[in-house]
Formats: sequence, C-alpha cells, structure tokens
Amino acid sequence: MHNIGIIGAGVTGLTAAYDLARQGHPVTIYEARPYVGGLAAGFQDERWEWSLDHFYHHIFASDKDIINFVHELGLDERLFFPRPITSIYNHGQIYPLDTPLRVLAFKPLPFIDRLRFGLVAAFVRYNPFWRPFERITAHAWLSTALGARAYEILWQPLLEGKFGPFYQQVNMAWFWARLAKRTPRLGYFRGGFQSFLDTLAEMNSKLGVKIHLDTHIQRIARQGEQIRLTMRDREVTHDRVLATCSPHQLQEHAPSLPAAYRAQLGELHSMSAVVLVLALKHPVTDQHYWINIPKREGFPFLAFVEHTNYIDPAHYGGETIVYCGDYLTADHPHLEMPAEELLEKFIPGIRRINPAFERAWIRKYWKFTELYAQPVPLVDHAQRILPLQTPLAGLYLANMSQIYPWDRGTNYAVELGRRVAREMGAG
Ligand SMILES: Cc1cc2nc3c(=O)[nH]c(=O)nc-3n(C[C@H](O)[C@H](O)[C@H](O)COP(=O)(O)OP(=O)(O)OC[C@H]3O[C@@H](n4cnc5c(N)ncnc54)[C@H](O)[C@@H]3O)c2cc1C
Repeated sequence: MHNIGIIGAGVTGLTAAYDLARQGHPVTIYEARPYVGGLAAGFQDERWEWSLDHFYHHIFASDKDIINFVHELGLDERLFFPRPITSIYNHGQIYPLDTPLRVLAFKPLPFIDRLRFGLVAAFVRYNPFWRPFERITAHAWLSTALGARAYEILWQPLLEGKFGPFYQQVNMAWFWARLAKRTPRLGYFRGGFQSFLDTLAEMNSKLGVKIHLDTHIQRIARQGEQIRLTMRDREVTHDRVLATCSPHQLQEHAPSLPAAYRAQLGELHSMSAVVLVLALKHPVTDQHYWINIPKREGFPFLAFVEHTNYIDPAHYGGETIVYCGDYLTADHPHLEMPAEELLEKFIPGIRRINPAFERAWIRKYWKFTELYAQPVPLVDHAQRILPLQTPLAGLYLANMSQIYPWDRGTNYAVELGRRVAREMGAG
C-alpha cells in the first residue's frame, strides 16, 4: 500500500483518488479552492434549481471514458443528451452549421466552396491517421484544403479566437481531434457538472479519501523516501504524490525538479479564458445554443453560448442563461478587469447578435477567469508530452497537456486520472 497525496480536486484528481482508494491505498486530496470540480465546477444562484458551470460544459456522445465511468458509478440516470443547434455568425446573420445539409445551405459561400468544405470536413473526421497531421499547422493545411474563402469565413476565426498569437502555429492534429470526436447530441449532467462532481467527491469520502478544501500546496520536495508537501500552516509527507495542477504551477512549486525538466514544463504553452455569465429576463437568440463569433469582425468575445437553448430554463427559475466567452493570453487586461467594465465592453457585441437586447434584460451577471484554460499544441507536439512520472521519484503529473492529440475535456481527465492511478498504484 502507498500513502498517496493528490494536489487538486478537479476531474483528474477525483477520478484518480476513486481508483486508488478502490485499490486499497490511503488517499488525501489537497484542493486550493473552497469547492471540488476545478475547471468543471459550477455555482448556484438562489433562484435556480440546478447549478451552472463557471465555464460552458457538455460532453460528446463519443466520450466513452466518462460515460463508462458514470455507468460504473451507477449514475447513468444523471446524464442526458439533448441535440442543440450549433451556429456561426457572419456579417450580421446567424447560420446553423451542424449538419451536412446546413453546410450546403450556407449562403455566404459559393456552392462549390460549400461542397468542398463538406468533403474536407468528412475527410478529416473519418481519417483514422492523425500522426501526419501533427507535422503541419492547421492554418496551412486548412487554408490549402478548403481554399482561402471558406477557411477565412469558417475556421480561421475559430483558430484566431482560441489561440490568439499562436493561431498559425497550432498543429492540424488538434483540429482533427475536434472533428473526430464531435457528435450532434451533447451530454449534460442533471443538476449541472458540479452536482456530478459533488457526488463523486462524496463517493470518494465513503471510500475513506480525505479531501481538504481551501488548502493550497506551496512547495513540493523530496524528503528521504517520501514527498513532502508544504502548506501555509503545516507540512505532510506521502509515499507518492499526484500533481494535477498546470505545468507552470508545478514549475513554480517544485524547484528541486531538474532544470531541463522545468524548462520542458515552461515550453508547454497555453491560453487563459474569461467568461461573462448573464442571467436574463428574455432569450437573446432563436434556439441557437452555441454561436462561433468572428472576433475579426470587431467582437469582444469568441463564443456566445445560450445555455438555456440547450438545457431547459425551468431549472434556472425560467431565466435565460448566456455565456460570452473568450480565450486570451495571460497578460490580457480583460482577465483582471472588473466585471462591470467587461460587461460594458461586451454589451455592444450582444446587441449585434440581437439588436433588441437591452441592459434592462440583465438581472445579474458573473465573471469567471482561468489562467490555464487551453493547452496550445504546436507542430510535433507528441515529442513535448511529459510522462506521468516526473524525474522526482514518487511525484506524478497529470494535466490537460498530456491528453494529446485530444483537446482538453472532462472525458480525457477521467481517462488520464484512471491511467495515472494504475501507474501510481502499481509496484
Ligand atoms: C472555458 C472552458 C470550457 C470547457 N468546456 C468543456 C466542455 O464543454 N466539455 C468538457 O468535457 N470539458 C470542457 N473543458 C475542459 C475541462 O473542464 C477540463 O478538461 C477538466 O475539467 C480538467 O480537469 P483537471 O482535473 O485535469 O484540471 P482542473 O480542473 O484544472 O483541476 C486542477 C485542480 O487543482 C487545483 N490546484 C492547482 N494548484 C494547486 C495547489 N498548488 N494546491 C492545491 N490545489 C491546486 C485547482 O484549484 C483545480 O481545482 C472546458 C474548460 C474551459 C476552461
């Protein structure tokens, strides 16, 4: 048996804890925030029946790892799969664009380009060989395959919005993974993702896992045969420790890691995220769940997500729930900006989506930010992926940078959590 410490009660940490505890190891989780769930956590207004994710969340019907895990936990009835509408904004119009027929009906492009787009999308989606894609950038491959017109309208805005200064450097395997896994039905947890994560935390507690919230780990170091974790007011030691924090945080907290390894952590680029969540008195759009917004048309955000066109507003006291989301570099002023100021910047963007929108529609709003929100996979990224075991014996790392070629997601956090639990529990 190994006495195991886990830094982080996100999906990876909670899943790993569950498997390790089931193997019979004593497990303790240290979580800096006052709640479990990490990036997938949510909050609840007093008027709502369900919690709402800080950042928009859904899973795909192809997300087998999380679906199987939920099944194993006996929680199948918690997951349900509506089929919302995903769309794109182009010069004042919103176009649903989530079926081949809708692509063929997409007027801003000449018919020949629509046909070409459909063929290219199908080729990428059904091509099982992703390795060659990681040697070329998505920008280079897509602009050639689709032609400049279709690329500029359909996919360049997404790459620009998501990866900012890196958009011409992201590899095509990232794009392949997005298309390969996408399904029209999107899964959601009854009660919100937080409700599922709270249940998982309770199941962990029943297995004897100790979860310390509001407990920030400041230092990670070797002490004899063990790993020492330093907190504000105490120190503990464990036989093995799993860090589920960002590469940058590990670099900062574990100065005794070899310099070459710390440099590798530093080379793993990522983007930060900001969302403004609005509780509104009226719907903004007609049935659109997700609208990809071209920032190049002057919008201050990349995604307009009308959550209540996906999940019944009855669970939120009949209110319309909207997310305006964006990805930014860590030094962008929007991340630190007070919510009121950000709202001022975003309102003109919302008015372009629906000119009737008025400030009086807003009952309440919230701002959420996350520094480590989206890993940036560059060309030949496979060579940059770090193994689960770090050079510090007994210290393991499991975070979003290691699930490549897949994009970040709770499904992969479950897969990664189970994989690292197998490795840590052995021997
Ligand atoms: C904007 C956005 C939208 C997303 N949309 C989706 C979606 O639609 N579907 C989907 O499946 N996934 C989505 N994701 C991704 C998904 O949320 C993540 O892949 C997943 O939650 C990652 O889990 P994790 O446990 O690996 O990391 P995290 O959730 O980041 O957990 C790490 C935990 O470690 C804690 N921690 C860090 N440092 C310390 C420390 N020093 N001491 C103690 N604790 C520490 C953190 O507080 C955190 O709770 C989205 C993410 C973002 C940002």
